[in-house]
Amino acid sequence: MIPLEEARSYVLGLGTPLESVEMPVGEAAGLVLAADVVAADAVPGDDNSAMDGWGLRAADATEPGTTLRVVGAQMAGVADEALRVGPGEAVRIMTGATIPAGVDAVEMVERADVDGDSVTLHLPVPAAQFIRRAGEDAVAGQRVLPIGTLLTPAGVGVATSVGAARVTVTRRPRVGVVSTGDELVSGDRPLRSGELRDSNRPGLLAAVARLGAEPVDLGWVPDDEARISEVLLRGAESCDLVLSSGGVSMGDADLVKVILARLGEMRWMQVAIKPAKPLAAGVVGSTPVVGLPGNPVSSHVSLLLFGAPLIARLAGRRDDPIVRVGALVSGGLPGHAAGGGDEKTHFTRVQTSCDANGEWTVRSAGAQGSHQLSTMALANGLAVQPGGVEVPAGATATVLLLP
Ligand code: AMP
Ligand code: MG
Repeated sequence: MIPLEEARSYVLGLGTPLESVEMPVGEAAGLVLAADVVAADAVPGDDNSAMDGWGLRAADATEPGTTLRVVGAQMAGVADEALRVGPGEAVRIMTGATIPAGVDAVEMVERADVDGDSVTLHLPVPAAQFIRRAGEDAVAGQRVLPIGTLLTPAGVGVATSVGAARVTVTRRPRVGVVSTGDELVSGDRPLRSGELRDSNRPGLLAAVARLGAEPVDLGWVPDDEARISEVLLRGAESCDLVLSSGGVSMGDADLVKVILARLGEMRWMQVAIKPAKPLAAGVVGSTPVVGLPGNPVSSHVSLLLFGAPLIARLAGRRDDPIVRVGALVSGGLPGHAAGGGDEKTHFTRVQTSCDANGEWTVRSAGAQGSHQLSTMALANGLAVQPGGVEVPAGATATVLLLP
């Protein structure tokens, strides 16, 4: 068996970031910037008011109860160039409105009483109060979002605010998914003895979409050398990554690993983890192909541990896409290995949550067989259980959050 980290770095080494493309910023959320976003404009463009209230001269309002003469109003979006505030004067001003000439402070509407064309301030007003300065968020020419940044919804907003209507990002990876196995049935026809439904393919396609890649359904193939060969070649041609399910363990019909070795560079590994021990990974042409194990839970765990970081790398991400938290074990995590444990890192399907005080707790999601996908569906994390030994209630466990 080989350590998880060794297998993971081998798989990560199979891919490099894809080419970059330019697109409207509104379509780029979740993609990684392949060029800096540089501000064409300052944000804000002008000094403006942070409050709905009164624009005034602070020197006039050093005492509580000052009364000023109202000489006009400044609305957001329509700066009145002629508007000037002299000694003893004030203007009605709205949030976001440009600060008129002469104004050096703003008082909020709640702290003033208006009577006809005069306004009386409850409190003294310090200079510069409630004024947002031009360029406080970005100055023109500033690199607001550096290359390598994962574009968040706020990032879409920032790029838009500085006038970057189009951005350059690393292309979204196209990830093909194929399932293999003579026993598999698609659709909802009644099953004959020995058959089971091909649940991995739709599940993995959904997981791929969750990971921000474009899923490509490569269909199902039986345990037939020619058919597996054909689909892997076709997938490698049309996709940036191919994920297969099944055919990588020790069985007589486990042909994916055999064919992968024939088509390209490939490593067949027994990874020191449970579930998802067997893994075949390599390249066909220059396209990475990862042969995930067929057991339903194993295929999902394997996708998370190996597929997710590789997809992230293809997409240009520089961070680890998997979020880990330390959580207090409630109820105990049962042991999966006899006696003093084994040499594997066990991943236990769990439900984890964070309370209002920021305390994470974790409990088992139920049965842990690698064929028991229902508990995976009810889990939102995988707890790391080194050696598969029982983790008692009250201990702390590391939990990988499912995307
Ligand atoms: P394999 O890795 O091909 O030996 O498959 C291991 C186990 O996973 C067997 O019990 C298969 O029937 C099951 N299995 C393989 N592929 C799928 C699939 N696409 N959907 C559901 N179960 C599968
Ligand atoms: Mg099989």
